[in-house]
Amino acid sequence: MSEVVDKCPNCGTAHVMTNPEWNGSSFLENWKILRCNNQECRKLMLRVHDGRTGVFVRMFPNGHYEIDSAINISQPIRDEFHEAGTCLDAGSYKASMMMSRRVLQRCLKEQGCTKRNLVDAIDWAIKKNILRKAFHPVAEEIREYGNLSAHPDDEQLQNATKESAEKILSFLRLLIHEFYEVPQNAEHLKTQRESA
Ligand SMILES: [Zn+2]
Repeated sequence: MSEVVDKCPNCGTAHVMTNPEWNGSSFLENWKILRCNNQECRKLMLRVHDGRTGVFVRMFPNGHYEIDSAINISQPIRDEFHEAGTCLDAGSYKASMMMSRRVLQRCLKEQGCTKRNLVDAIDWAIKKNILRKAFHPVAEEIREYGNLSAHPDDEQLQNATKESAEKILSFLRLLIHEFYEVPQNAEHLKTQRESA
């Protein structure tokens, strides 16, 4: 039976239809191999669910942190966002949060910021109205959790947990949405309206 997957881990297409290729189960785990129906992709993915509860456990490749291929975004941001997600899946929470912080810094740089220090870069973005005021705390937490992950003597290190790393990555995704997807979607609507 065909199945819709949130996002193909290979091509990044959202809500993509897939065909089942293989199923296997034990008491502990159910494994399912699916083929992406996107004609340009057609690659396989493996989804693992808990055998007793049916809850999704993990996917191979780890690409559910792939940014949708339709979004026009620079390759370094795409790669580093993916890397933050891969670290998260691998249980490397500090590495994930450090990478998220790095992506934020790169996003601000792409918005035209030349400040080297991230505190100053965030301030700059707020003042220039590039970062909405409501998103100030979002950017601030990405910066803070990235910092505590980078410093071995930080007494906050017990906060480098799976939950924090997930939250930080989802905050980062929000900012990417704000900086890249929203303007692109608006542009797309405008083009559509004007060419009609
Ligand atoms: Zn695909």
